[in-house]
Amino acid sequence: MLYSCGQPSIQSNPPLCKEHFVKRFEERVQKTIRDFHLLSKKDSVLVAASGGKDSLTTLFILKKLGYDVSALAIDEGIAGYREHTLHDLTGFCKKNKIPLRIVSFKDSFGKTLDRIIKEQKPHPCTVCGTLRRYLLNKHANGYDVIATGHNADDEAQSVLMNLARANIDLFPRGGPVTTSRGEGFIKRVKPLYFCTEKEVLTYAVLNGFAGTFTECSYATQAYRAEIRDELNEYERNHPGAKIRILKQCLNVKARVPQQSSVTKPCSSCGEPSQQGLCKACRLVTDINAAI
Ligand code: SF4
Repeated sequence: MLYSCGQPSIQSNPPLCKEHFVKRFEERVQKTIRDFHLLSKKDSVLVAASGGKDSLTTLFILKKLGYDVSALAIDEGIAGYREHTLHDLTGFCKKNKIPLRIVSFKDSFGKTLDRIIKEQKPHPCTVCGTLRRYLLNKHANGYDVIATGHNADDEAQSVLMNLARANIDLFPRGGPVTTSRGEGFIKRVKPLYFCTEKEVLTYAVLNGFAGTFTECSYATQAYRAEIRDELNEYERNHPGAKIRILKQCLNVKARVPQQSSVTKPCSSCGEPSQQGLCKACRLVTDINAAI
């Protein structure tokens, strides 16, 4: 099938040729940045990069749009998974002349995630998420903004997860820009917020950096995986549902008064915390105490 420009369509709904798909995708990212005041050309932007298609797309598109970007990768120590994505990321950053820094759980906390899970059997994603967020904020010191590769699928899943778990307090934190969590927390933005996972994958493939497809071995234990499958099924039957969920969430957020949390430096590491000891230090203390 040909698109109206005469070139072959690469997708049917809506029909678009390669060139128009890329153009439309980049325009949508620019519009998100503009409408939600995500970035300015003066900002130094640190992209939280894993080496997967989402973070590579974020790096690629922000660099292409003229932003000052660097990449930070966290190596949790997940054998058979992270080494492959870091390999892709290192090659990508070298090719695109993007500064890259890699920090590991092992160097920072003395253990890989695999070892923590083997020794204590906590929920992998809880430990992984808490320690990753901690390292990201800590190593973003000196940057204006942290950009992440969260796409529309990730975000719609989060909305449903928070609803299903009655985590209504987390609702205001959603959206393309994270509401201030208090002093010391660096602004976080999601330029791919309105791009679906399928669109991000298509963009990455068309630009030649889709990378190796490997999934974290703990992903099947994630509650998110269940919600993802249900949501994909719903989207198949009701196209556009993911974006509608996000737009509704933003409508709700606009009506909820914004609250800025009061933070103070963690008594152990000095990172911002809502309690005396930050969440990561409490977790690391528990991990070490359990040996
Ligand atoms: Fe970490 Fe869980 Fe994601 Fe694996 S699936 S990278 S353990 S958050």
